[in-house]
Amino acid sequence: MAKRDYYEVLGVERGASAEEIKKGYRKMAIKYHPDKNPGDKAAEESFKELGEAYEVLSDPQKRAIYDQHGHAAFDKRAGGFGRGTGGFHDPFDVFREVFGGGSIFEDLFGGGRSDPSQPQRGDDLRYDMELTFEEAAHGCEKEVTVSKLDVCEVCSGSGAEAGSRAHTCPTCGGRGQVINSRGIFSIAQTCPQCQGARRVIDKPCKGCRGQGRTERSSKIKLRIPAGVDTGSRLRSAGNGEAGFRGGPQGDLYVVLHVKPHEFFQRDGDDLLCEVPISFVQAALGSEIEVPTLDGKASIKVPAGTQPGTMFRLKGKGMRNIQGYGHGDLHVRLNVEVPTHLTSAQRAKLHEFSELCSGKESPLSQTFFEKAKSLFQSRG
Ligand SMILES: [Zn+2]
Ligand SMILES: [Zn+2]
Repeated sequence: MAKRDYYEVLGVERGASAEEIKKGYRKMAIKYHPDKNPGDKAAEESFKELGEAYEVLSDPQKRAIYDQHGHAAFDKRAGGFGRGTGGFHDPFDVFREVFGGGSIFEDLFGGGRSDPSQPQRGDDLRYDMELTFEEAAHGCEKEVTVSKLDVCEVCSGSGAEAGSRAHTCPTCGGRGQVINSRGIFSIAQTCPQCQGARRVIDKPCKGCRGQGRTERSSKIKLRIPAGVDTGSRLRSAGNGEAGFRGGPQGDLYVVLHVKPHEFFQRDGDDLLCEVPISFVQAALGSEIEVPTLDGKASIKVPAGTQPGTMFRLKGKGMRNIQGYGHGDLHVRLNVEVPTHLTSAQRAKLHEFSELCSGKESPLSQTFFEKAKSLFQSRG
């Protein structure tokens, strides 16, 4: 692919001043920076090309050669200027050089590369907890053990041994960066001694190797409110990992998983319970006991109750997590047909059946009458 003219790449005139070239680079670099164009190959290429163009045109010597000989002067295979210099620099180094690295970089792209000299907030943690149905219904207190980075007990987080203090890093003079000269280029790099922190400790704490934090198990008490459900997330403020360089603690997020109940199915704040009754109870009517979250309740089943009949016990459901009272408990009656009849029972049922002949229950009467006309119409 033919190389584009470097002036064109930077969007400047041939006779542009050094300031105009820098301006042109800044404008284009912000447009094509990979952080702004994630996954965009074309933008990545443009960004590289831009770095190359700026590297040449920002240097009066290289610019003069370029003006005279064009790209050929920098083509390694042609034995030009670039030979032996290792070609062009990393376009990101050029970018850092022009923008000064550090904070300007973050202002442009909204962070992601935090300043290592600033206090950092501790990481948030997630803890998955299983609860019984009753614990979720009534609320409970739990104590969990979490292994996490905590404030070092030896140095109380300062990272320094007793009597030792942090002082300005001698390598970078407190700038957090050192300038490396590569030929005529100077490139700012993170200081190798303080790792950008700007300060170093004489005698780092042995407990945490100067980090101010150590991995420890902590017991944390949690109050689980009534009405939580699977997927509910509780935030335990400040119980995440310890901050760095005096930054605040992270938070602990507890994600709840509620075990199913033997009797109750949950639907929001409402509960459903299926209760079996005998066909005799259904036919004659009776008073039955049903389980609830806090004991039992009784239901009057009227004579002739059909299978699937629902009863609603108002306010006997789950407590609403936001405090809007309680849901209801819905009871569905399941009429059981007896199995394993004794011969005496069987005889009574036959007797019962004879008494019933010609006097079907209202539902089956309508059903069989309709069915009869259906069979006749078919032929
Ligand atoms: Zn320590
Ligand atoms: Zn340093």
